Parts: sequence; C-alpha cells; structure tokens
Amino acid sequence: MSRLHSLFMSDVVSNFNGVQKKISQACDLSCRNVDSVTLVAVSKRQSPELIRSAVVDVGHRVFGENKVQEAVDRWGQLKEEFPDIRLHLIGSLQSNKVKDAVALFDVIEVVDRPKIAKALGEEMRKQGRSIPCLIQVNTGEEEQKSGVFPDEIGELLQYAREECGLDIRGLMCIPPVDQPAGFHFAFLKTLADRHGLNELSMGMSHDYETAIWGGAKYVRVGTALFGDRLS
Ligand SMILES: *Cc1c(COP(=O)(O)O)cnc(C)c1O
Repeated sequence: MSRLHSLFMSDVVSNFNGVQKKISQACDLSCRNVDSVTLVAVSKRQSPELIRSAVVDVGHRVFGENKVQEAVDRWGQLKEEFPDIRLHLIGSLQSNKVKDAVALFDVIEVVDRPKIAKALGEEMRKQGRSIPCLIQVNTGEEEQKSGVFPDEIGELLQYAREECGLDIRGLMCIPPVDQPAGFHFAFLKTLADRHGLNELSMGMSHDYETAIWGGAKYVRVGTALFGDRLS
C-alpha cells in the first residue's frame, strides 16, 4: 500500500470517529439513546478504495447510494463478501431500475409516486423480498425536487400500503438549500406524527446534529466522512 493510499485510509477512519462522536453528543443533548440513530454513510461518487476502507478499516455497514446502476457496480461484489452490509437507496428511482433496486437495496427511502410504489410492490413479491420503505417528502414544495407535497402523503401512504403491500416505515426529506434545515426537520416530524409514522431520514454533512435533535433515525452523511466527491 502506498504512503498516500494509507494516508487516505486513516482520514476515513478519523472522519468516521469524529462524526460518530458528534452523533453521540447530539444524542446526549437530546436525551436519546445513541442506538436510536443510524449513520447512513453516503458513498455516491467516492473512490472504491475509500469505500472499502470504510467497510474493512472502520467496520461500517450501512451505506447510501443515489443511483441504482452505480450502486450495483460498486456494491454487488462487496455485499457478497460482507453479507451484513445494508444499502439505502436515497436518490430518485426510475421504473426500469426497480428490478435491480429490489435485488440490491435494504431500505428504499425515495417512494414518491404511485407508479413507483406499484412497481416496487410487484417486484418485491416476485423476488420474495419485503424491503422497508420511506416516503420522500418535498417539504419546501420546490419545483425541481422529487418527493410528494406534504398534503399528498396520506393518499400515497394508503395506496402504497393497501394496494401495493409496501412496508412504509416513515418519511425522508431534503430541505431547500437556502432555508434553515431545522424548520424542515421539525415539519417532517410533525407530518410523520400526523400519519403515525416514526422513522425519519433527515440531515446531511452540515446539519445531521440538528436532525438528531429533531428526531432523525437515519442521518445521511457523505462528504464529512469521505471528503469531496469525484465529479
Ligand atoms: C449526496 C446526498 C447526501 C450526502 O450529502 P453530504 O452533504 O455529502 O453529506 C445525503 N442525502 C442525499 C439524498 C444525497 O443525495
């Protein structure tokens, strides 16, 4: 292993330690058990070496990817080698990728329309898998962003559960970049409570501590663990 290579590796280990420490402090401050928060390490567009280091040197097991094909390419093999790895799909899902997504992922955080809920339900039945799902909510009601609007959650929730047989556990959001994230996290919590859901996926590198105070179960952290992404 080259000197530079081992330097990168030790960065990853110390980044994970630093983030885990902040998670545990945020849990203390909000009177939460540290086991109630899961760090989803977002590995999209990171080098295979850094990802392998997170698995082998850090021993981390929960990762997030936003593109199905990219995830299949880099995790297919690693997941066979380390069967306890759990992958979260955190990027928008297209119908023609549903089959691969159901085969690979362990949590799908991006259920955002009836068509994709139906396709997921059918494919899970075909493959004999029941994968926990979250509904993605566009809390800022932004034009370009995926996710249902807050007042559409009830309808999609009912359809996904009753018509498609999906195991919907909670809600996920990505707040608008130009607004205080804490407001959106509190809003997502309110929406989840209203619909009797208790798993929240919210918080990224810059605001995961706020998200933990707001009740996040999953925090999705990329650059704070791995550094800047490859373009
Ligand atoms: C990329 C991404 C993240 C991680 O973002 P960082 O700022 O690198 O922590 C989290 N959530 C989603 C949905 C993403 O696409």
